[in-house]
Amino acid sequence: MRSAVTAPIFPLSAVVGMDDLRLALVLNAVSPAIGGVLVRGEKGTAKSTAVRALAAVLPAVEVVSGCRFSCDPADIDPDCPDGPHDFAGPRESRPARLVELPVGASEDRLVGALDIERALAEGVKAYEPGLLAAAHRGLLYVDEVNLLGDHLVDLLLDAAALGMSYVEREGVSIRHRSRFLLVGTMNPEEGELRPQLLDRFGLTVEVAAPREVDARAEVVRRRLSFDADPTSFAAGFSAAESELASRILTARELLAQVALPDAVLRQIASVCASFEVDGLRADIVIARTAVAHTAWEGRSVVDGDDVRMAARLALPHRRRRNPFDAPGLDEEQLDNALDDHSNDDDPHDDGPGGAPAPQDSPAPADSSSPTDSGSAPERPMPAPGESFAAPTDTFRTRRLEVPGVGSGAAGRRSRAKTDVGRVTGSSRPTGKAGRLHLVSTMIAAAPQQKARGRTSAGLILRRQDLRLARREGRESNLVLFVVDASGSMAARSRMGAVKGAVLSLLLDAYQRRDKVGLVTFRGDSAELALPPTSSVDTAAARLTVLRTGGRTPLAAGLLRAREVLRVERLRDPRRRALMVVVTDGRATRRGGGDLEDAYRTAALLAAEGTAAVVVDCESGPVRLGLAGKLAMALGGPAVRLEELAADTLAASVRTFTGAA
Ligand SMILES: [Zn+2]
Repeated sequence: MRSAVTAPIFPLSAVVGMDDLRLALVLNAVSPAIGGVLVRGEKGTAKSTAVRALAAVLPAVEVVSGCRFSCDPADIDPDCPDGPHDFAGPRESRPARLVELPVGASEDRLVGALDIERALAEGVKAYEPGLLAAAHRGLLYVDEVNLLGDHLVDLLLDAAALGMSYVEREGVSIRHRSRFLLVGTMNPEEGELRPQLLDRFGLTVEVAAPREVDARAEVVRRRLSFDADPTSFAAGFSAAESELASRILTARELLAQVALPDAVLRQIASVCASFEVDGLRADIVIARTAVAHTAWEGRSVVDGDDVRMAARLALPHRRRRNPFDAPGLDEEQLDNALDDHSNDDDPHDDGPGGAPAPQDSPAPADSSSPTDSGSAPERPMPAPGESFAAPTDTFRTRRLEVPGVGSGAAGRRSRAKTDVGRVTGSSRPTGKAGRLHLVSTMIAAAPQQKARGRTSAGLILRRQDLRLARREGRESNLVLFVVDASGSMAARSRMGAVKGAVLSLLLDAYQRRDKVGLVTFRGDSAELALPPTSSVDTAAARLTVLRTGGRTPLAAGLLRAREVLRVERLRDPRRRALMVVVTDGRATRRGGGDLEDAYRTAALLAAEGTAAVVVDCESGPVRLGLAGKLAMALGGPAVRLEELAADTLAASVRTFTGAA
């Protein structure tokens, strides 16, 4: 048996509190089919410590000796790149692995790298396994999973769905099994997770630092004592750790014998129906989790308490909600749904009478609007002279973009040089991994063939012939909204439409992986309502409760935006910014002269190369066209509020061809 020499890790049984987290991790260890855990919580809550500790108590795995893809001797992967293996060949038992996927990893690092140079020059299929191979039959851990790049998310989702990793480069392909327990941690303040990835996790757990003094003190005491002498600290918990490990193993063996009675299965269905989850994935995850919990407790029949526990961990991220709402669960609603079912023992409830189903429901007020509970932002009371308008429905917006070609982080907004995307040309390798441009490579090699003494049909390739594809894709941007919240916009219906439009643009920014910021101006000043952040949901919440009224200090709004953009350019120089000014173009302030100042500031922003779009909110029978003038001063296009929807194609072509 071979084991890597590593520093002792903090033992799982020494983790104080975080009972839900520990339970969620352990149940996944008992039944990996549950689908992993997403751990949400602020920084400094030892989320990662608990996750890393789990690996140490996972059952060991039996592998074919020497196979880099961890083939199971009892079920050898027929496609294993290290195969074919001999059934009776040597095997060994090794600890389950913890593999960490860094958010900034390259695609090759995740799926493995095919060495095209060697494939072409030496005719061998040289494949260096990636993290998906290393994590097979172990734990794949992504810290800050909400910051993972889109291309990695897609690869991860494919592998998780197929239980397999597949790599293809220029017609050479490799595939191998990749089944892993996926665990992600994230700080929700840094932005929410994409819904498809969120759904991939079987369970979610919220963690927070303990509030009670004793527990806090104990956490710190253990941490200090571990840091001072990890080896003897770990030794103090070794008995507890091996007990935990053997309990997991016992539960795993018991799993197949656990019975899931029909009545309990119906209870699961009733809970999922009550929370309006999409599809059947939640039902399946709850069933698996409840079965694992039963086995973990050494029992053999699933009961209502197992279901309650499973639902609490499996539903928070699956109940139907607005994309900007944070996951969460109303426990009272859960109890009602569980009770509802136990009152209703008759399995033939859609019998011949055809009576309306909810007739015997005792609490219609509670079951009518599950999505309204909890997360709706507080509506502030408007002060005199102010008003509050609720946003209208959101819609799909057109893509507003920064002109030119950038080189920012991958995303879906403006054109950029990227590692993925369509091929636009070729260049010599610069040391960075890339994809081969085959035609250019052959063209480079062709004139050298005589000098290299070619006699047979095969092309003689040298490393210096290689050409890599130059690619163009899309980058994400900083979208800074500068929103006029003054009295001139405050006509109730108008401001509702403006909020609806900006919310739609925010939703669009979320899907394009942008950072967003929000500057508002009204009365005597402009305010940075939200500093640039990836947390689009926070921006949406701030905007929803925005009050309107007072004068229109447009120049102050633009100046504030200019300041914000200057700081962001220093912080994140590669991320290009797009300023979206939402205004009717009017400007008023005490003393006057605001319009002239506004145009002067706009010209300054344009001279500094700031890309801008004006969303023209002017309405009514008499129009001044001031927003158009502002757009001209900013050197960007103006889009009427009504033209912002994606389907007004003709309008978008007209406005944007001039700006490119
Ligand atoms: Zn193998």
